[in-house]
Amino acid sequence: SYVVELQKACDFVRACNNVLVVSHVQPDGDAISSTLVIGWLLRRWNKTFKMVNENGVPHRLRYLSMSEVVRSYADEEERHSQLTYDMVICVDCADYSRIGKIAQWVAQDARILNIDHHPTNDHYGEVALIREDAAATAEILFDMLQVSGEELDSEVATMLYTGILTDTGGFRYSNTTPHVMAIASQLLKHGVDGNDIADRLLEKMSMPQVQLIKRGLSRLSFTPDQKIGWLYISPEDMIDTGALSEDLEGLVNYPRNIEGVEVGLLFKQVDETGVKVSMRSAGTVNVAEIAQHFGGGGHVVAAGCKINGQLHDVITMVVERVNQSL
Ligand code: 5GP
Ligand code: MN
Ligand code: MN
Repeated sequence: SYVVELQKACDFVRACNNVLVVSHVQPDGDAISSTLVIGWLLRRWNKTFKMVNENGVPHRLRYLSMSEVVRSYADEEERHSQLTYDMVICVDCADYSRIGKIAQWVAQDARILNIDHHPTNDHYGEVALIREDAAATAEILFDMLQVSGEELDSEVATMLYTGILTDTGGFRYSNTTPHVMAIASQLLKHGVDGNDIADRLLEKMSMPQVQLIKRGLSRLSFTPDQKIGWLYISPEDMIDTGALSEDLEGLVNYPRNIEGVEVGLLFKQVDETGVKVSMRSAGTVNVAEIAQHFGGGGHVVAAGCKINGQLHDVITMVVERVNQSL
């Protein structure tokens, strides 16, 4: 049962010491929050641990307590050239390769706890706590903290709320279940400032982000039947606007939100050889399947992948593949 699974995950955490807590590359609110919640629990239990992900903490999430001690790969590359961890907790990572370069710090025979909510999760690790029906990894962690017997404080409540808020698109997506709302209510009772978090994450935009939206929207393209809409961002766009990867978040919603559009796509040329693709579905098309076809993964209505090739070839190929699914 679920409670037994939660208990197993708790036991793993309790047995940990000198453990690496890691989430996926280009972490989102759920990835960072989930990392911090595990860190919070490890700290309560007087464990030594390191929290990390390939890219570090996006600026807009730095209000979260303990976020200042989360490291990026670049921060500790030198120090870890020799050292490896033999206990690892992966959060919000559908497959092990999602931790990116951090894999270099993990011992070959490391014991892994895998906590995640992606339907494409391949159940890697010694203990895998996977709930496809959870809106966020943070939702699973809320349940896990209940089982742990630890009393929540406003710090951890803010982490949990942040993970759930971001992965439900501000309590708007179809994953916003009664359980999600009940948890949110509990968290508010524990002192979360819901208005402040919503303002930071849903309302405020950085200036580079707005400049990027301007460019992106000027390039909106559609198939003749207007069921697929897409835009792309080039490396020059990033340089000219001073945007960071985190400023791309939300851009893919513009095509998806247009009446009649079934699938919205965002293409970002990341280097000469690769294009990052974000896919969003209005509900009819399973974009997780399409992303998986290209070596990525995700959820039925929100998925992604990275494809090697020239930007415009990749656009043609992906649009073609999505069109077949309509
Ligand atoms: P986004 O488009 O915001 O980067 O990602 C949307 C969803 O797809 C997220 O749940 C994310 O974890 C997943 N996703 C994005 N890119 C990849 C990828 O390259 N591989 C896998 N397995 N999942 C991805
Ligand atoms: Mn995530
Ligand atoms: Mn998530």
